[in-house]
Amino acid sequence: MVSEKLNDEHTPTDFIREMIHADNESEKYGGRVQTRFPPEPNGYLHIGHAKSICLNFGLAEEFGGVCNLRFDDTNPVTEDQNFVDGIIEDIQWLGFEPNDIRYASDYFEQLYQWAESLIEQDLAYVDDQDAETISEQRGGFTTPGVNSPFRDRTVDENLALFRGMRAGEYADGEKVLRAKIDMNHENMQMRDPVLYRIRREHHFRTGTDWIIFPTYDWAHGQGDAIEEVTHSICTLEFDSHRPLYDWCLANLDLPRDTPEQTEFARLNLTHTVTSKRKLKSLVEDGSVDGWDDPRMPTLRGMRRRGYPAEAIRTFMDHIGVAKSNSTHDIELLESFIRTHLNKTALRRMGVLRPLKVVITNWPEGHSDMREAINNPEDETAGTRQVPFSGELWIEQDDFALDPPPKYYRLTIGREVRLRAGYFITANDVVTDDDGNVVEVHCTYDPETAGGQAPDGRKVKATIHWVSAATAVDATVHLYDRLFTDSHPGSGDTDPLSSLNPNARETVHAKVEPALGEVSGGDVVQFERLGYFAVDPDDTSVFHRTVGLRDEWANIQKRRKNS
Ligand code: ATP
Ligand code: MG
Repeated sequence: MVSEKLNDEHTPTDFIREMIHADNESEKYGGRVQTRFPPEPNGYLHIGHAKSICLNFGLAEEFGGVCNLRFDDTNPVTEDQNFVDGIIEDIQWLGFEPNDIRYASDYFEQLYQWAESLIEQDLAYVDDQDAETISEQRGGFTTPGVNSPFRDRTVDENLALFRGMRAGEYADGEKVLRAKIDMNHENMQMRDPVLYRIRREHHFRTGTDWIIFPTYDWAHGQGDAIEEVTHSICTLEFDSHRPLYDWCLANLDLPRDTPEQTEFARLNLTHTVTSKRKLKSLVEDGSVDGWDDPRMPTLRGMRRRGYPAEAIRTFMDHIGVAKSNSTHDIELLESFIRTHLNKTALRRMGVLRPLKVVITNWPEGHSDMREAINNPEDETAGTRQVPFSGELWIEQDDFALDPPPKYYRLTIGREVRLRAGYFITANDVVTDDDGNVVEVHCTYDPETAGGQAPDGRKVKATIHWVSAATAVDATVHLYDRLFTDSHPGSGDTDPLSSLNPNARETVHAKVEPALGEVSGGDVVQFERLGYFAVDPDDTSVFHRTVGLRDEWANIQKRRKNS
């Protein structure tokens, strides 16, 4: 779906694809390609995860292989079934179907048996020290680690203690199982890492069956091996874990070639936080209305906001896969959203901040239908009839009593075009006690139906409108950046400190009747204003997906000129 590229036609695209081609040529894994996407079900997926999903599922598709969804559910405290269900839903929405859905917890028994086999090879030991002491003893990049006083326990003693850990003979934190590698290893991850902890917490799948839980390092590679994953692709921060990944697999008795780990750069976007933990705190402290708040960079937030899944996939393909971390402009993602919606979204008229226009020469009681084009980018979308009458709504800022220089829209004595309607000229205003304009009195030229004057006279502006008699009321949410800082959390700052309290503005709009007949999830263009998505739970609520202006083009221009 993401790409039609075929395996046999060697199209070098990035270092991961190159590597897989090379593996296939050398017959490693017998030409088989299997990947996995391994989220922890402790939150919903964000746009960063979409990068990993598109890559893992995309590779499997391109190379004729398969990709599993594997929940990395090794931490009972933060995980739950709602997140599992939501993650499955989000992946399907993005356009991918897992070959199989697995859980690290499916493998707890096997992982336990393998841990015993490590002990039997004198490659693991039970340590009675607390987490803090163990952490201190790891040393630093320039200082060697310190061997635990429990490091030389016998195999039999370790086996008995580890079985006791499983059986519940010790308190939480009283003992851990550690790999016995090298406390002076140049790679800190290799300094006798912890493999098991005792945690008396209810696990959403295994309940109270297990009170010892494997660490990421002990679960991940083995999960890959059990599922017969060939290429285990993860983000750069796991780079230093790779020797440990390989060490664990090398010391197990496995029937086939072990999977290989490859790292790629995380997706970072300006004005965006891609950390589940941080996003979760926004949900929990009420800064947003939940994980699916359209301000959130979560897949469910973006879905509610009207981002098409296909446009997200196209963006991921475009930015490609990199070996070093960088940050992409959010405006680039938005330009992909805009380009997609420009082709697909029906054009409609809606007035966000209504100002009444009265057409004084409109025949009393007369109503009229104007024909408007549904999508100039798509002829098959056809046209629609829009009711017109002697009382209309226009945008407040499309009229100026005291116009600034170069203001071409409506002002006293000026003629403008109403989109798909008539030319109108403003003659007079009604003001309230404070001098605010509450009504503009205009005359229309009946000869200009459809927006052209028979005498060929021109107007400089075309504005949108909605007939007052048939207008539908709508609540419209306008969005700004959720974080004002372009790199929230850069340096030592707390990303949440640049949270934008004004990221959502709500207005009460008047929209054309066709917008009263939309379905949840539809995205339309409000002419001159942007793209708006219909809320899935309330079709009188619209979320501005993106504006019409291509800010990405402006950014590029500025960069060229600087
Ligand atoms: P978070 O900090 O948001 O919880 P995580 O990496 O801990 O991120 P996981 O659920 O463990 O979240 O991640 C699942 C997969 O998605 C991992 O392989 C991880 O590397 C990948 N991933 C997470 N964030 C990004 C990102 N910003 N760009 C690319 N891949 C990502
Ligand atoms: Mg994680």
